Amino acid sequence: MTCFICIACGTQFSESSERPRACPVCEDDRQFVPQSGQDWTDMAAINRTHSVIWIEEAKGVHSLQISPDFAIGQRAFLIEGPDGNMLWDCVSLVDETSAARIAAMGGLAAIVISHPHFYSSMVEWSNACGGVPIHLHADDREWAQRFGPALHPWKGETLQLGQATVIRCAGHFAGSSVLHCPWLEDGRGALFVGDTMQVTLDRQHVSFMRSYPNLIPLNTKTVRGISEAVRPYRFEAIYGAFAGRTIKEAGSRVVERSVERYIKAIDG
Ligand SMILES: [Zn+2]
Ligand SMILES: [Zn+2]
Repeated sequence: MTCFICIACGTQFSESSERPRACPVCEDDRQFVPQSGQDWTDMAAINRTHSVIWIEEAKGVHSLQISPDFAIGQRAFLIEGPDGNMLWDCVSLVDETSAARIAAMGGLAAIVISHPHFYSSMVEWSNACGGVPIHLHADDREWAQRFGPALHPWKGETLQLGQATVIRCAGHFAGSSVLHCPWLEDGRGALFVGDTMQVTLDRQHVSFMRSYPNLIPLNTKTVRGISEAVRPYRFEAIYGAFAGRTIKEAGSRVVERSVERYIKAIDG
């Protein structure tokens, strides 16, 4: 029995003797099935050819990314906090070095996931870190492909985890969320955005889409909803889902002006 992993999107599936027939995450209009067709791998195979690279992005913020790039190529974050360490978002490879490093840092208190594209190998990460709870928004739970007792779907608009707040913004997915950590950046706050917002290449704005690869925008009402969801929170830094996509200063203002620019572009 194998927990197959989709090579295109990096989602790990529950144990089976045969390869899954299809990947619902890839077949959704937000993603795509590669021209070469759907293909599968497993944890042992990725472990032979890839590793997880850690980068200390700021005090208490470490990014984790598979190298060489695998599937979507996102980064996850190990965030040190007053209530323990959190893993924000996830990657497909769980390597022994990372698990040992997390254990040496005092272990994980929680895994929190922004949306289904980064569910990846969340259950295996939880298993490797003592079965810690995985918080994902209940509105997206239908997209989970591997199940386990660690999955803790949450409902509503916010989830408080000690001093951290998970904020449902919706848009990209019904349960698309961001994570606010007020203690980071010397108390000025940081926001981790997954695909709920994408930090643009100029690192001066964020943008918003239902699908980034298929270029499906969101409407004015939905984008206003995202900005209203984060307005009560102050944050200096914005950590996007991909390497280098970090805004270091004035994050709250960046979101406000990005929303205005976006709405002007789509609504005239
Ligand atoms: Zn897939
Ligand atoms: Zn996504």
